Amino acid sequence: MKVHDILRQQKTISVEFFPPRTDEAYSAFSRTLEIVKKYNINYASVTSSLQYPMDVTFHITRQVQKNISAPGVCHLLCGKMTREDISFHLERCRVMNIQNVLVLRGDQRNREERIVQREGNHAFCHAGDLVAFVQRKFPDCSIGVAGFPEGHPETPNRFKEMDYLKWKVDQGAHYIVTQLFFDNRDFFDFCERAVLAGIFVPIIAGVMVVRAKKMLQKIAELAQGARIPAKLLSAVQLARNDDEVKKIGIEWALKQLEGLKNTAAGIHWYVLNQPDIAESVLADSCQNSTI
Ligand SMILES: Cc1cc2nc3c(=O)[nH]c(=O)nc-3n(C[C@H](O)[C@H](O)[C@H](O)COP(=O)(O)OP(=O)(O)OC[C@H]3O[C@@H](n4cnc5c(N)ncnc54)[C@H](O)[C@@H]3O)c2cc1C
Repeated sequence: MKVHDILRQQKTISVEFFPPRTDEAYSAFSRTLEIVKKYNINYASVTSSLQYPMDVTFHITRQVQKNISAPGVCHLLCGKMTREDISFHLERCRVMNIQNVLVLRGDQRNREERIVQREGNHAFCHAGDLVAFVQRKFPDCSIGVAGFPEGHPETPNRFKEMDYLKWKVDQGAHYIVTQLFFDNRDFFDFCERAVLAGIFVPIIAGVMVVRAKKMLQKIAELAQGARIPAKLLSAVQLARNDDEVKKIGIEWALKQLEGLKNTAAGIHWYVLNQPDIAESVLADSCQNSTI
């Protein structure tokens, strides 16, 4: 089943996994998968990394898809890929019955990675280039792309940023999944600006639970541009331990969920192989039939 076909019929609930790389990480992944299986989610996506081979992502996506009896979405990155590499990977997707991809440029950690991508024998600089390729060569694929409610740091001009997002949609993206955000007003504003820019595909809200104090710094680094509201920040700073932080984080995310119900085309939970977080957020969002 294709994600964009599901979105035509209903609002979606989805989760994101990442490929585990150690025995301990694999155990956390498996426990999370067991929890996700209990709930009637609409799809699950699996991240990729410029530092690791794509194969791992395909295998985990297939495993997730089999287990949850819902579509798996494979994150497909531009980085370091030729047209032949991408075609090879998408053929494998077809063989594995993976019909859904989230097309991304990929996190470039430093200037060197940016230069390698631009100057090497790599076909795709931006996600939009790769969307066009996938759409042309594999028209049966359902394609999602990333959106950034708080902007993307490499494009401070918000008009330009929306133009680039529209370009991705015009190349064939069927829906948008957003970067995490902690203030729903950023999402609402993003959706309105998207419509003003002529973007009419469904926009799924990406939500993450803060579960540890040290996570805030990581979020600031990885979720480029994401702002942590002072109210959330002070509550986390006052918490005595990470159990308290987790409680605060879950409460905040569930309040976000409540506010997003009417506007978002779906909720994408960045549960990232955390079984307890998966249990808390899915118990609430899946039992509530309006999303
Ligand atoms: C839902 C979601 C899932 C993600 N999953 C992963 C993952 O699995 N692995 C990973 O490494 N990263 C992942 N990321 C992070 C993402 O790869 C980075 O944030 C990356 O910096 C931007 O990716 P993009 O696909 O939006 O790139 P692009 O659309 O290529 O945009 C990158 C930058 O270039 C600008 N731009 C776009 N098109 C053009 C153009 N034609 N000319 C000039 N500038 C342009 C954009 O405005 C933006 O500033 C994810 C992000 C999200 C929101």
